Amino acid sequence: MLVIMNSNATEKDIQRVALFLESKGFEARISHGEARVVVHAIGIIEEADQRDFELLTGVCEVIRVSTSYKLAARVSQGKDTVVEVNGVKFGDKYTGLIAGPCAVESYNQLDETAQELSESNVKILRGGAFKPRTSPYAFQGLGEEGLKILRSVADNHNMAVTSEIMDISQLDMFMRYVDILQVGARNMQNFNLLKELGKIHRPVILKRGLSATYEEWLMSAEYIMAGGNNQVILCERGIRTYEKFTRNTLDLSAIPVIKKLSHLPIIIDPSHATGLRDKVEPMSRASIAAGCDGLIIEVHNNPDCAMCDGAQSLYPWQYDLLYKQIKQIAPIVGKEII
Ligand code: PEP
Ligand code: MN
Repeated sequence: MLVIMNSNATEKDIQRVALFLESKGFEARISHGEARVVVHAIGIIEEADQRDFELLTGVCEVIRVSTSYKLAARVSQGKDTVVEVNGVKFGDKYTGLIAGPCAVESYNQLDETAQELSESNVKILRGGAFKPRTSPYAFQGLGEEGLKILRSVADNHNMAVTSEIMDISQLDMFMRYVDILQVGARNMQNFNLLKELGKIHRPVILKRGLSATYEEWLMSAEYIMAGGNNQVILCERGIRTYEKFTRNTLDLSAIPVIKKLSHLPIIIDPSHATGLRDKVEPMSRASIAAGCDGLIIEVHNNPDCAMCDGAQSLYPWQYDLLYKQIKQIAPIVGKEII
């Protein structure tokens, strides 16, 4: 439930509403928007009578949020959430870009890739150190050594980094090296991990599960937000369908749907969505045209020799070309790529 206060409500009115909500068994969370204050009532007290709240002094309107996600819901705040990392913004009118290899393979591989990417203005580098591979015999990533390389290369090029955390036990380690924690598609409903990520004050990229509905995806975001971490970036990375030609099926409708349902930024991963390098460019352009808040793209200095996902990794020169194209498309839909 959301209690929207009048613009002239006093601090005392707001506190009285919060106390009243708490007396009814809700957790009250106050959010100060530009034009109004909203008191979020968190809890599932179905029998609460909305009118009891409407009558309180200073209350303008009470909205019963029928969705099961509350903090992630569009109605819960007046404006879009903007997540900012290293000067790159995701959300509202900003489109942020993240690029880098699927996996950190060696210092030289990453440094060469980062060098090329920095020439295309990339400020956030991706690179997996713990890889969730379908086969236990496939390259699993360099582990902590990979995170160290990622950090050191990124520092050399003034970049921030994102990498996938696979397990709660890795959290302290990730906090030492990583600026944005990535939750992979296979872990979207690892609720214990999500709860822990709710306690940190660092952005989280939450990938959509392989066959997750929008509601399930937003409920997972809610897990993180319920813990107090509002910096969630949703990432559509393709869903499982009957089509086998592409690795997954990119659900571009997720962009307008999520924007209607939530204030959280949504970015697109065209690399895992299509699995094929030549499909990454058109789908990136389409995502930008559909108004996404960012892209995360796999780029490798030598994709033909990549240890993981080479076929879907762009050559750096391809990324550069794509960057120049999407920079032109973004303003047409009122977005800015910084
Ligand atoms: C990745 O980004 O490297 C990755 C494994 O993605 P996903 O979780 O979307 O499969
Ligand atoms: Mn990959």
